[in-house]
Amino acid sequence: IAGLISPWNLPLYLLTWKIAPAIACGNTVVAKPSEMTSVTAWMMCKLLEKAGKGCDDSLPFFPSGVPPGVVNVVFGTGSKAGEALVCHPDVPLISFTGSTLTAQRITEKSAPHCKRLSLELGGKNPAIIFDDADLSQCIPTTLRSSFANQGEICLCTSRIFVQRGIYNEFVKRFVAEAKKWKVGNPSDPTVSVGALISKEHLEKVRNYVEKAQAEGARVLCGEGVDSLVLPADNQKGYFMLPTVIAEVKDESKCMQEEIFGPVTCVVPFDTEDEVIERANRVKYGLAATVWSSNVGCVHRVARRLQSGLVWTNCWLIRDLNLPFGGMKASGIGREGAKDSYEFFTEVKTITIKH
Ligand code: NAD
Repeated sequence: IAGLISPWNLPLYLLTWKIAPAIACGNTVVAKPSEMTSVTAWMMCKLLEKAGKGCDDSLPFFPSGVPPGVVNVVFGTGSKAGEALVCHPDVPLISFTGSTLTAQRITEKSAPHCKRLSLELGGKNPAIIFDDADLSQCIPTTLRSSFANQGEICLCTSRIFVQRGIYNEFVKRFVAEAKKWKVGNPSDPTVSVGALISKEHLEKVRNYVEKAQAEGARVLCGEGVDSLVLPADNQKGYFMLPTVIAEVKDESKCMQEEIFGPVTCVVPFDTEDEVIERANRVKYGLAATVWSSNVGCVHRVARRLQSGLVWTNCWLIRDLNLPFGGMKASGIGREGAKDSYEFFTEVKTITIKH
């Protein structure tokens, strides 16, 4: 029985990405989706139930449906339903995606049972942009990597290091493009940024911008400097403009902590060694992007970054077979075809004397 715990930010994707390899390896699962976004999990249960009805027990596998009891979903809060799963003696492994803080609690609570854990956690992901980068590709992709899904993707860029020779040009073009992103109802095809997950989360994200300003950083666009025009129906929603912050110190909270909203910081750098050291100087190590037309440079930098995933001259190109996971406080273990197989199965050694 595998315990699967998923977060709110990509609810169906992150849940099914755990369920599929778990049952393919012959496990049953008890999944606990986020209490903030449980509707798609509920809809998936209805489909599984429907699929289960067509099950033919005489077949070795279940091509015509998922048998009852194979995929079980419990709905509830983390402290009750989640923790019950983590502490249950009959659930020997937990695959968790969520915050680093919750992962620490899960590690403590599961320790008495010696459970196997896979932990996919937060990030503070850098984009490193060298003088020779192709800005016509880099700028639109870095806008997406900063603001896609309101910045609520663990792989989103939140620290942009730009080599000094192109810093001013990059900032000017990046901010001009960020201002074009329309905020509002995501059902409107011209809208790129929807509402944040909750009032509390919006307040937390705004608070980071205020803290940065108090520390002397400059907000170049977005929160507090531009006005947010919303359709009449969305006035009370938890919306926020894509926000770019400059002149922010590496040790400030905005450069160290995961904000998980449409906020990105942009800072200049001079040398390759310097930017690698600064990019690595955070507790997280999930994802990074490197932009340069010098193939030697991208290989050198990619190798030295403390990051589970590095994209060079692109972002979020995913093959589900590739290992996925973070270093340092961004996680323990990898998921993806071969890695998920290893996590969801157990090796046994049998020696036969003959
Ligand atoms: P969260 O840690 O608050 O919650 C994640 C899940 O854990 C939820 O289902 C929640 O109910 C449950 N939970 C909370 N407390 C628990 C406890 N004590 N015991 C057991 N379960 C508990 O995270 P969130 O706010 O839902 O999601 C955002 C976080 O997830 C961000 O930090 C983001 O970076 C991270 N994330 C990481 C990845 C990745 O692949 N590395 C992907 C998506 C999101």
